[in-house]
Parts: sequence; C-alpha cells; structure tokens
Amino acid sequence: MINKIFLRKGREESIKRFHPWVFSGAIDKVEGSVTDGDLVELYDWKGEYLATGHAATGSIAVKIYLFAPEKHTSDIWLKKLKKAYALRERLGYTNSADSNAYRLVFSEADGLPGVIIDYYNGVAVIQLHSQGMELIKNELAEAVKQLYGDKLIAVYNKSKETLLKSGIKSDDDSFLYNSSDAHTILENGHSFLINFIEGQKTGFFLDQRDNRALLSRYVTGKKVLNAFCYTGGFSIYALMAGANHVTSLDSSQKAMNALEVNLALNPGYKGSHKGVVADAKEWLGTMENDYEVIVLDPPAFAKRQADKHRALSGYKYINQTAISKIKKGGILFTFSCSQAISNEQFTSIIMAAAIEAGRDVKILHHIGHSPDHPVSIFHPEGEYLKGLVVMVD
Ligand code: SAH
Repeated sequence: MINKIFLRKGREESIKRFHPWVFSGAIDKVEGSVTDGDLVELYDWKGEYLATGHAATGSIAVKIYLFAPEKHTSDIWLKKLKKAYALRERLGYTNSADSNAYRLVFSEADGLPGVIIDYYNGVAVIQLHSQGMELIKNELAEAVKQLYGDKLIAVYNKSKETLLKSGIKSDDDSFLYNSSDAHTILENGHSFLINFIEGQKTGFFLDQRDNRALLSRYVTGKKVLNAFCYTGGFSIYALMAGANHVTSLDSSQKAMNALEVNLALNPGYKGSHKGVVADAKEWLGTMENDYEVIVLDPPAFAKRQADKHRALSGYKYINQTAISKIKKGGILFTFSCSQAISNEQFTSIIMAAAIEAGRDVKILHHIGHSPDHPVSIFHPEGEYLKGLVVMVD
C-alpha cells in the first residue's frame, strides 16, 4: 500500500507549479507510517491527488518525481531515462562523432530528484543523494541497461560519499552491472581518461564542456594559466587550440598525474606545458604578471549558507589577485560552483575584486553549466555553476 500525505490548505500551489520539494511545514496529516525513502502520494486538503515522491527526513519532507495526473508505474524509471535521453539527443550529444560523454540525468530538472547519471562512452556512473533513490538503485541500473542495450559497458554506483554527507548510510561504491577499468572519452574531439572510481565527483566535470570550447576561441598564441585544473580539461583545450604556453595548477597530485596522462592522449600541440601542484591561494600571490588568459575554477567554497561569508572572501581574493596580475587586454574565465552564491552575488564579487585591483574590467560572456545540466524554471536551486568571461585592461 502506498502511504498518503495530505497538505495544508494553500500548500498545493507550489506543487501545481512543478516545484519538486515539499517542506515539512506544509504537511497536514500522514496516513500510515512513513519512513525515510518510502514512496508516498501527496494530496491537497480536499483529497485531490497532486504528486508522487520519496519521503525524506529533514526540512524537505518529500522529493517529488511525478506530478498529477501521472502515477507511479513499474516502468517509471525507464520512462524517465528515455525522456532525459531525448533531451540529450536533441542537444546533439548522443550521436556525435567528436563527443561521447554527457550528463544523462541531472536530478530535479530531469524529474529525478537525488539522481545524477553521467554517461562516459558506454560506462554510466550513478551518484545518488537521497534515501529514496538509494533504495531503488538496482531498478535505476536496470533502466540504464534497457536504455542503452548493447552500447552499455558497465554501470558504477558512486554514491557513498554524497549519501554520507546527507547522513544516509549506504553500501560501498560498486559496479551494479558488469565492470570496467578507467577508459577514454572524447569531448569536442579531445581525449580524456576518466577514472570514475578514484576521480573526484563522477570522474570528470562535464558541466564545463561548452565553456572549455569557448576558451578555445581566446587562447591561440597566448600564455594561459588554468588554476584549479583537476585533470586538465581547460588545459588540453587551450593547448590544442594553439596556446603558446599553459600552466596547470591544482593542489592534488593525483589530479596532476591524471592530467599528464591526458596530455599524452592528445598529441600534436606545439605549446609548452607546466604542471604545478600547490595551493592556489598561495601560488597566485607569487605568480608572474604576464599571463594573457587565466581560468579560475575553484571547488565550491560555500557548500551551505553558513559558509557563505568565508567563501565570498575566498572568491574575492583569488579574483582580485588574478585581475591585478593578468596582462593588459587579458581574458579571465572565472567561476563559482557554489549553489549558495547567486549570479548577482558572483558578479558583485568580481566587481569588488576589480575595484581593489584598480583595473578596468568588461564582461564578455555570462556562462554556466552546459545544457545537459538543465535547470527547471520552477526549481532555480538547481543552478549552481556561475561563470563570467571578462576582459581586463
Ligand atoms: N576546471 C576543472 C574542474 C575543477 S574542480 C575541470 O574542468 O575539470 C576543482 C579543483 O580544485 C579540484 O581538482 C581540486 O583538487 C582543486 N583544489 C581544491 N582546493 C585547491 C586549492 N586550495 N588550491 C589548488 N587547487 C585546489
């Protein structure tokens, strides 16, 4: 039997607008006993069916994956994946001669709150964020198998860390179907070895795909710094687009080792490359002032609202340093992937940094995640990556 939750009068409004979260304060009564992760149906105060979701503990009491009139059916996960796939197909990501990796499922925006699925040239990596989705992980893996058929090499579940952060216990990370070693993907014609087992997040930052391509337009013949480079996404694009020199900077030796492998996978570039393993905040303070293009893509300095002030000063410091030191006419690609920092806040941080640096700065592009990371207009919380490309005189 499916548990039913009835909402207080007026609290159905946000659900009718397709907002996928129900806060605990909206609940009037619960029929049956509901525990974390249970499938529940939501009704308004008059008893009209509104939506279906997974119960959660904490202030978000239900995460919705189906809105009325749809109801849960046994093939629901495959239906969801097919819909998500159709969007990536429409984007030209599924059948491209020069790219074979993309985000198949981006949580709320794909009607699957708590689910990330990245597709790496035949290997699907699932990252879960809720108890409800953790309980049905094998059903999700089965749906991925049915979606891709023979093209699928393996399904890896990499959720332990993300679930633990939400206080949810889970099995160790493991393959849910077959197994695979790290293997190579193509992104806009560039090769990257993806180590989904040991790498950060699901193994690669697919969200920067279009921004890496944009960087290619600005680097020919230039001296480039890629700070917070991870496995070298921006560095490889810059070298392949004819950068004169690229310095790649990251605090992780493991990331730098992976970057070296990626350099070897992309022969034919003429520029020089230097890898630096160091803390970016310290290194930026001592770097030379002749870089012509700088990429700053730090990790989320603010994971929660509580960290925000410290994060703001961290972003301001690195941007101020880069803007002070970049060569006249230089181009800065600067990012924040903190969900807690809004676009407006990010722009004002860069403005404050420009004021402190005493340089004239113009915005050339407002950028964000690639469209395989869509954002539901009703769930703006899904937008996390903010980026600006600015010219510094
Ligand atoms: N731009 C990358 C993704 C960056 S992820 C891409 O396109 O793939 C953020 C990176 O910052 C991680 O690799 C992490 O190891 C690194 N990092 C975190 N703190 C750092 C610090 N203080 N100094 C330098 N690098 C840091």
